[in-house]
Amino acid sequence: MSSHTLLILAGDGIGPEVMNEVRKVIDWHNDNSPLCFTIDDDLVGGAAFDVHGVPLHDDTLTRARAADAVLLGAVGAPKYDTLPFDSKPERGLLALRRELDLFANLRPALCFDALADSSSLKRDVVAGLDIMIVRELTAGMYFGEPRGIRVEADGSRTGINTHRYSTEEIRRVARSACDLARQRRGRVCSMEKANVMESGILWREEVQWVVDNEYPDIDLSHMYADAGAMELVREPRQFDVIVTDNLFGDILSDAAAMLTGSLGMLPSASLGQRSAKGLPAALYEPVHGSAPDIAGQGVANPCACVLSFAMALRYSFGCSAEATALETAVESALADGIRTPDLQQTGSGRPASTSEVGDAIIDRLQRS
Ligand code: NAD
Repeated sequence: MSSHTLLILAGDGIGPEVMNEVRKVIDWHNDNSPLCFTIDDDLVGGAAFDVHGVPLHDDTLTRARAADAVLLGAVGAPKYDTLPFDSKPERGLLALRRELDLFANLRPALCFDALADSSSLKRDVVAGLDIMIVRELTAGMYFGEPRGIRVEADGSRTGINTHRYSTEEIRRVARSACDLARQRRGRVCSMEKANVMESGILWREEVQWVVDNEYPDIDLSHMYADAGAMELVREPRQFDVIVTDNLFGDILSDAAAMLTGSLGMLPSASLGQRSAKGLPAALYEPVHGSAPDIAGQGVANPCACVLSFAMALRYSFGCSAEATALETAVESALADGIRTPDLQQTGSGRPASTSEVGDAIIDRLQRS
């Protein structure tokens, strides 16, 4: 029996709805597998603001640090749009990522065969797609100083952001990418703009250093990020693991995401340093937001949240077989046509509810 603690922050909008289906999976493991999970629940985002007046309470952060992994639903709702910047729900999520120093953001782009026709690209380009984008999450353009909007002597304004990376910030995320590649097909493609940016030259040199000195078994290639964007939509299956910085990763991972069909299918993991226990600081969450347009209707696709838990099984708890079984159960439910409206094909009958998709996943786990 291996025992783990999870902090669940369901958040706002469809967050609690999709997280309910993850709870079914966790309960199933507690009842049917050697894995034992203890769940702690807390608030984040608008839900935390309503109770505490802040989107992330200090006690919640303490509980997040103590947990083996954090599972998050989604944050945000229109009623919070007029709040001051620091009180907005999204600040709670950013604070969590920053305080846990979650520097490696993992976004798989996986195209289940059953969904290959939902992609905006042709089936023969995306069928069987399985790539992993590793985005540096805590440095670079979104954090570099100096930054701001400066008013010039003539009254005009200048907007400033700084694309800054240190050796260690690059090396640690390159190691994360190489570790992942070792569990996959052994290939890493690093993307930057070394042709026009000094920070890109450093990025390329440091990633190369990590592979030369620590991962000689990894097949490393380099690509300019703009060419990478083009290759992602031309022939995405050429990639295994892509590692890139915060800014380019933001854009490239969204582009790759759409190869797979629906926003409701995309999981993510954000990982930091390993603790004395050997587990990485970890936050697992679907890529989508709180979807206020469908919240409360019971129609949200829970697959991204469930697949995020599969990532927790694989990357926090080393349970690859259990993770694969869960991914297979999701794919099997979808292949049998049990799909929420976002994945529904015209003329294919009544769409399934959030809870029906969750039940179908449990049913397939039970049969596996
Ligand atoms: P969104 O991802 O919430 O929704 C975009 C569209 O996709 C909507 O039409 C929505 O109905 C649909 N969608 C999203 N998830 C779905 C699911 N699981 N099943 C079916 N359909 C789904 O993005 P948005 O509308 O730009 O933002 C809404 C709120 O969410 C905002 O407050 C935003 O700040 C917040 N947000 C939060 C996160 C996060 O928590 N990580 C990420 C993005 C946006």
